[in-house]
Amino acid sequence: MPPNAYDIVVVGSGPAGQKAAIQGAKAGKKVVLIEQEQGIGGNCVYRGTIPSKTLRETALQFERLKRSSEVFEGRLRLDVPMSVLLHRLDEVVKAHECYMADQLTRNNVIYRHGRARFLSPNEVELQTIDGACQALWADTIVLATGSRPRSIPEIPVDHEHVLDSDSILSMIYLPRSLTVLGGGVIACEYASTFALLGVEVTLIDRAQRPLSFMDAEIVEVFQRSIERQGGRFYVGQTVKEVAWDGVSSVVARLANGMAVKSEKMLVALGRQPNIEELNLEAAGLTLDEKGRIPVNEYGQTLVSHIFAAGDMLGRPPALASQAMEDGRRAVSHALGLPVGDSLNQVPIGIYTIPEIASIGLDEEQAAARYRGPLVGRARFTEIAKGQITGACDGLLKLIADPSGERLLGVQIVGEHATELIHLGQMALQDGATIDRFIDSIFSFPTFAEGYRVAALDILGQRRKRQSTTQAA
Ligand SMILES: Cc1cc2nc3c(=O)[nH]c(=O)nc-3n(C[C@H](O)[C@H](O)[C@H](O)COP(=O)(O)OP(=O)(O)OC[C@H]3O[C@@H](n4cnc5c(N)ncnc54)[C@H](O)[C@@H]3O)c2cc1C
Repeated sequence: MPPNAYDIVVVGSGPAGQKAAIQGAKAGKKVVLIEQEQGIGGNCVYRGTIPSKTLRETALQFERLKRSSEVFEGRLRLDVPMSVLLHRLDEVVKAHECYMADQLTRNNVIYRHGRARFLSPNEVELQTIDGACQALWADTIVLATGSRPRSIPEIPVDHEHVLDSDSILSMIYLPRSLTVLGGGVIACEYASTFALLGVEVTLIDRAQRPLSFMDAEIVEVFQRSIERQGGRFYVGQTVKEVAWDGVSSVVARLANGMAVKSEKMLVALGRQPNIEELNLEAAGLTLDEKGRIPVNEYGQTLVSHIFAAGDMLGRPPALASQAMEDGRRAVSHALGLPVGDSLNQVPIGIYTIPEIASIGLDEEQAAARYRGPLVGRARFTEIAKGQITGACDGLLKLIADPSGERLLGVQIVGEHATELIHLGQMALQDGATIDRFIDSIFSFPTFAEGYRVAALDILGQRRKRQSTTQAA
């Protein structure tokens, strides 16, 4: 094989690109991974998951301190520098960088720093930082270039007063007030974290409720929790214009005539795929009417040796876990390796405070498919662990078929929801029955006990339904 020829070229070193590269290398292929940024890891490490979750952890530590100390006055000084709130970020990022670099080296993945674009269907041009260009040839090409915050002309993001998710953590101090535009995952995660840190948060969204793709009852618990922190939701509202008043406030003018003022604004109106720079035409690729690269369930494009994975596909859920799976699947399919069917059961984990998680069908989806599904509920106020920890804002819902026997889905809001969901995921994958939760002994006190409480709720409803049917 000539020096610039590879079995697999992967573009982008986020979760999707990394897992694609490692999967290929583990299969003994010559793999090169191209990344335009200084560090390996993608948005996930530098602007997404890791920084936002580091700030979230600080907010939670503050909350725990407030809960556990009677003498602590429970107020955080708002002039605390952001660097203090993100004090562990550098350490976490460095540890992650080391781990990722080590993993690539151990697997013999060749790493090249530079920007990639197509020259032809099998050729990618690598432009390095000094402007030098080199053509790399490959049998298989995996695109994993991620996404960036969506911007719209009516809302000018200046990264000082009006910020997006790439720049929000570059604020020097915690603001007194923050308007969040958007009701998606990133908007809700940041809104709840800042609210817990004592910032006056107002979330404005066009939809009738935030996180409109999630179970309505679950979102209600989340919304009430933020409102108790002093947060406000303006839903069903359209923002007409946003402007910095030149003194101290950002002003958002709504279509209904209302003006919302705050010290800073976070614009979180979704993300757009990074595809413009790739020169897709040279590869023979065209976009669909939504501006996305059409792919099949393996991420395979219409040019069969080119694959796309992760956030660049522009389809929900845009999660690191999904991106990793996309990367693995794409390369496994390209190499004819077994792919598995895990894509049918991707858990959704939303790191709001309280957390939200989902797997399988929710109540509304189940009702659309089955006549009269049964729903079992366990409120965290009824669970000893909720009472002990004071984390009572929680609800676990088990969704069962109309017989009350087969599990169809699990929806959770509350502390540790993103961990608890995996028990439901395993149960669903194994085709477990509702009775399986009743016949299991859960440690006491745990939040996981909620599964049994909710299953018993379904059992009660099942018996009632059976006796009504017999009586009829
Ligand atoms: C604020 C925020 C919080 C989040 N929190 C979570 C969370 O808690 N849990 C979760 O699962 N997900 C979370 N996500 C989503 C998660 O970060 C993404 O789903 C994930 O990073 C997508 O991975 P990816 O590999 O597709 O793309 P990315 O991570 O975006 O990586 C793409 C890489 O490709 C590189 N690239 C682009 N174009 C080129 C080119 N032409 N040449 C070379 N390199 C190129 C980019 O520089 C980048 O490094 C969050 C996202 C944000 C923004």
